[in-house]
Amino acid sequence: MAMALAMAQRHTHRRKQALHKALGLEEKPIRLRAHPKGRQVSAKDKFALHDILGGPARQRTLLIEYLHQIQDAEACLPLHLLSALAADLNMAQAEVYEVASFYHHFDVVREGETRPPALTLRVCNGLSCALEGSEALIKTMKDVLGGNIRVQAVPCVGRCDAAPVAVLGQNPIGRANQSAILAAVSAKAYKAPMPDALDYKTYVQQGGYQLLEALHQGSRADEAIIAALEVSGLRGLGGAGFPVYRKWNILRQQPAPRYMAVNIDEGEPGTFKDRYYLERDPHRFLEGMLIAAKVTGISAIWIYLRDEYAHCRQLLERELKALQAQAPCPIPEISLRRGAGAYICGEESAMIESIEGKRGVPRLRPPYVAERGLYGRPTLEHNMESLYWIRDIVERGGHWFASQGLRGRKGLRSFSVSGRVNKPGVHLAPAGITVSELIKGYAGGMLEGHSFYAYLPGGASGGILPASMGDIPLDFDTLNPHGAFIGSAAIIVLSDKDRASDAARNLMQFFEHESCGQCTPCRVGTNKMNQLIAHDQWDQALIHELSQTMIDASICGLGQAAPNPVLLVMKHFAHEVS
Ligand code: SF4
Repeated sequence: MAMALAMAQRHTHRRKQALHKALGLEEKPIRLRAHPKGRQVSAKDKFALHDILGGPARQRTLLIEYLHQIQDAEACLPLHLLSALAADLNMAQAEVYEVASFYHHFDVVREGETRPPALTLRVCNGLSCALEGSEALIKTMKDVLGGNIRVQAVPCVGRCDAAPVAVLGQNPIGRANQSAILAAVSAKAYKAPMPDALDYKTYVQQGGYQLLEALHQGSRADEAIIAALEVSGLRGLGGAGFPVYRKWNILRQQPAPRYMAVNIDEGEPGTFKDRYYLERDPHRFLEGMLIAAKVTGISAIWIYLRDEYAHCRQLLERELKALQAQAPCPIPEISLRRGAGAYICGEESAMIESIEGKRGVPRLRPPYVAERGLYGRPTLEHNMESLYWIRDIVERGGHWFASQGLRGRKGLRSFSVSGRVNKPGVHLAPAGITVSELIKGYAGGMLEGHSFYAYLPGGASGGILPASMGDIPLDFDTLNPHGAFIGSAAIIVLSDKDRASDAARNLMQFFEHESCGQCTPCRVGTNKMNQLIAHDQWDQALIHELSQTMIDASICGLGQAAPNPVLLVMKHFAHEVS
């Protein structure tokens, strides 16, 4: 290193001398620097890094994985280790720093700064948890735990059915209260129970992977799978609702190599359906994923799982290992990537950036990811649940799935229901059901003493509608004329004890927290909107103007959809804010 540096400096100096000579200027003596510019990496730093990550062979695309390993080992990211990592990866220190400081689950600690406590208690302040008093719980736990355990308010952790939720280290505590948290803390090595999922052996015994095998052996045709999907009407269940068969056909026309990215980031407040299925039947999803890979000619797959789902990660690691060890047919390389607490990484192009080891910042489109996605290659991007249904649709027939819908809609929807109902949870119901039917027929009705006041049909971004509009069929496209959308079917139910304007305040704070900051209408707009709606009486003309700017000029769906709840509060709950 020192020799290379000296050679580079001599080379630069010789060029300068030649220039000076040509200009007739006085030659200056050579002055060699002892080390490169910037923060120096000591041998001790390098050894400390290698103790955590192993030897120095590293891949730049695994930057976020390395940051996780350091954070797990040190409970933070000390700057000297980031510098050593940058040196190993041959990256500028600023490049490593910008990634490390982008994600909420990484804590960069500079020299002289105090390290955070080894253990963190994250308490969700998303809307469903806030309805259950999480703000007061956060305050209490800060007082009770003092500085020994760090207490953080965090946005949705994907367990709204057990609100309020706290996460101690990586272990969730549902229906959290002070005594449950203190019991977990005093248990020292508290571990939440692992989900009781169907394992590889049992799944195979129950007929799993036979469809995939048949496809590989040629007894089932790729075209027959696509035809079944077309009949079924299956659409992307992450929120965008793009017809699955059309996405596959587009991919098949792209040049090889083609890649796949599976989105299990589900950060939309109110959504927890992907976790629900993953915890019960992971191989049904994996088989669907491999069927998609076979039909569209995918050569490598990346699964992107949100960091909050630590138990699902362990489970997937175990089950992927079992699958790869006894694969029923040749399968592509599969990599499991861990998110790091950034909602925006649920946006497909931001997720791709994150998989590549960068900040999760949405890309400008076109080109679309189907043409230029992961590492510049055509990429099939799918939500986990879309893949989960493929085996059932092919085995039972596309008509079976399509015929499940109500009121002319097609298929089933996995509604994540939370809020003021007796049975919060994932409820599988026909597309086209109304929220009133869903509450009564699936979610056990409203809580005792609460009457139905309002609902969010599609999580934080999908808007807020009054109970008087509880008879609209819930599906893609049906809510759009009302300024709302179903998204990933996260239904949050509010009662007469709640205020829609408070819900909108909670959601806008979430959007401001999660804005990636790339574009001004979203970065500044969410902040300005929070200031405007903090008042009891809203300046509606100004809010409309700001909303229009955000909708028209934000780069991605986060900034474009963020005003939805506020606009619908002004439209349907004006009495609360005027
Ligand atoms: Fe980032 Fe918001 Fe702009 Fe999307 S709209 S790119 S989240 S700043």
